[in-house]
Amino acid sequence: MPEAPKEQQKATDYSVAENNKKTLEFIEDVTKKPDDVQKTVLAEILSKNAHVEYLKRHGLNGITDREIFKKVIPVITYEDIQPEINLIANGDKSHILCSQPISEFLTSSGTSGGERKLMPTIDEELERRSLLYGLLMPVMSQFVPGLEKGKGMYFLFIKSECKTPGGLVARPVLTSYYKSSHFKERPYDPYTNYTSPNETILCSDSYQGMYSQMLCGLCQNNEVLRVGAVFASGFIRAIRFLEKHWSLLCNDIRTGTLNSQITDPSVREAVMKILKADPELANFIEQECSRQSWQGIITRLWPNTKYVDVIVTGTMSQYIPTLDYYSNGLPLVCTMYASSECYFGVNLNPLCKPSEVSYTLIPTMAYFEFLPVHKNNDTTNSVPLSKSLSEKEQQELVDLVDVKLGQDYELVVTTYAGLYRYRVGDVLRVAGFKNSAPQFNFICRKNVVLSIDSDKTDEVELQNAVKNAVSHLIPFDAHLIEYTSYADTTTIPGHYVLYWELSVNGSTPVPPSVLEDCCLTIEESLNSVYRQGRVSDKSIGALEIKIVEAGTFDKLMDYAISLGASINQYKTPRCVKFAPIVELLNFRVVSCYFSPKCPKWTPGHKQWINID
Ligand code: AMP
Repeated sequence: MPEAPKEQQKATDYSVAENNKKTLEFIEDVTKKPDDVQKTVLAEILSKNAHVEYLKRHGLNGITDREIFKKVIPVITYEDIQPEINLIANGDKSHILCSQPISEFLTSSGTSGGERKLMPTIDEELERRSLLYGLLMPVMSQFVPGLEKGKGMYFLFIKSECKTPGGLVARPVLTSYYKSSHFKERPYDPYTNYTSPNETILCSDSYQGMYSQMLCGLCQNNEVLRVGAVFASGFIRAIRFLEKHWSLLCNDIRTGTLNSQITDPSVREAVMKILKADPELANFIEQECSRQSWQGIITRLWPNTKYVDVIVTGTMSQYIPTLDYYSNGLPLVCTMYASSECYFGVNLNPLCKPSEVSYTLIPTMAYFEFLPVHKNNDTTNSVPLSKSLSEKEQQELVDLVDVKLGQDYELVVTTYAGLYRYRVGDVLRVAGFKNSAPQFNFICRKNVVLSIDSDKTDEVELQNAVKNAVSHLIPFDAHLIEYTSYADTTTIPGHYVLYWELSVNGSTPVPPSVLEDCCLTIEESLNSVYRQGRVSDKSIGALEIKIVEAGTFDKLMDYAISLGASINQYKTPRCVKFAPIVELLNFRVVSCYFSPKCPKWTPGHKQWINID
C-alpha cells in the first residue's frame, strides 16, 4: 500500500489544541479532588492484589480501607523486600507482591549492597508512564506556543540489559520505555517529532548513537525548537561530543555521506533518509565551531531553540552555569519527576527558574504518603533509610492532601506493581498548591554525598572505599589523617575528587603509582552504577586524589567555626560543595593522582547471564 501523503498524517492545529485542552482539563480534575483520587487508587491497588502473598501475610485479607491498610502494612525500604524480589528474580511466578505477572525488573540507579535495586513492574505501568509523558507538552504549550510546528532535538540512549536467573529482563526504566511499542510505534504526534530517528536512539553502541543523533540534529538545525536530554549531565556530554567531532560531522554534511565508523545498518539507513549534501550548512557549522569561544553555541547552531529541556533539580543543579554558558541563558526547563519505582509528577510552571521548580504529583500514578522530616536548629533530623520506623514514626505519615506548606517530607509510595508503603529515598518540600494538590520542591536524595551523572554515592560507600584504598599506604608507614570529597563538574565528564591529608612516618615517600592504585581501589569499591558510568557510559571521568599539605583540615575546621559551626560538634564533612571551602582545599594541594584505568564492570548483578 502506498504511504499516505505526509500532510494527511499531520495533526491539524485544531486537534492539537483540542488534545491540549483535554489534557489540561484532566490535570484540573485530578488536582481539584486529589484525596478522592488517592482513595480510589489505593482501593484499586488493594482489591486487584487482594490475594497476593505479601498482603495476606500482613493480614490485610482483601480489605481496601485506608486506615486498616496503614495500621497493618509496614513502611519499608528495599532491603525489607529483597527476599521477595530475589524469589521473583529466580523465577518464582506465584503472586508474591502483585497479582499481575511481573513483566520485567527496572534497574534503579539507587543501589543496595553495591548493586542496582530491582524494581518489579507490570505491563500496564507502561500506560501510566505514557500518560505522564502525555501531560508535558500540553502544559508547555501554554507558555511557549507553536512548538508543534518544529522538532525537538533530544539526545536519548538505551543502556545494556541483562536477564535474571529466572529469565526476567532487567534494565533501566528509560531503556524499557524506548524499546516498548508505546515509544517505537507511537502514532504521529507533532510533540514527539524528534530530530533523532528511533534507530539512532535504540543503537546499543553509544558512540554511533551519539554521532548519528548529533548529525541528524545538525542537518535539521532550523527546524529545532527545543533541545534536551534527560539529565543535564547528558546534554553537556552531547556538547562535549560536538566539540570533539564537529570536523567529522561537517565532512559528512558537506558530502552527504556517512563515514565508515557508523557501521550499524539500521542506523545508517535511518540517517541516510535525513542526510543530504549541504556544503553551505557544513561551512556554517565549521565557522561557528572553530570560533574560540563556545559561549551560546546552542543558539548559534540551532537558532530557533526556545528552551533547554533537562533536569537541573537535585544534584544536577551543579550543571546550571555550564548550560547557561552554552545556551546563552535560554530557559532551562525541568518537566517531570520520576523514578524506576513510579513516575510521580510534572512541573506545571515549566519556565520558572531552576531554583523554584516544583512538581505536582499526579494522584492517579500511585498512592502517595509522606513521612515528615523534622528540622532541629538547622540540622535535619530524619529516620535513616537503614533503620526501620518505630510505631510512632509510622503513625506520623500523612496523606497527599495533609502535607503542610514549607515542611519537608520523605516520599513513600504504594504502586500498582507491588510496592507497598515503600520509601523512595527522596526528600521533598511543599512549595505550594495546584488546586488542592500539593507541589513539591525536590530537596535531595537521602544520604547521597557524591553524584556526577545517575550515580549516587553515599557516605558509607565512600568510607568503605577509602578504607580499602588506604591499605596500599601501610608498607610506607603512611596514614590518612583526614579526607573529604568533591564532585568536580568543571571537567567534562565530571569526576570525583578526594582530598587526602597524609602523615608519612616512613623514610620513603609514597610513590605516585601507589597513590594511583589508591584511586583505582576506590573506584573498584564503589557501586555498579558508578562503575558503569566510568566504563560503559563514559559519563564519569577518572577519580582523582589530591594530597593536601599538613594542617589543611585544621584550617577547614577553623573556617567552619568562623562561619558559626560549633567547636564541640564539628565533624569533617565527607563531601564539600561550598565554593570558598573548595578553594581553601585547592589552595593547599601539593600533588594530584588519577585512576590509571577504568574499574571493572559488567552488566547485571554479579552472578547473572548477560544478554548483550
Ligand atoms: P532511578 O530510579 O534510577 O530512575 O532514579 C530516580 C531518582 O532520580 C529519583 O528518586 C530522584 O532521586 C532522581 N530524580 C528523578 N527525577 C528528578 C527530578 N526531576 N529532579 C531531581 N531528581 C530527580
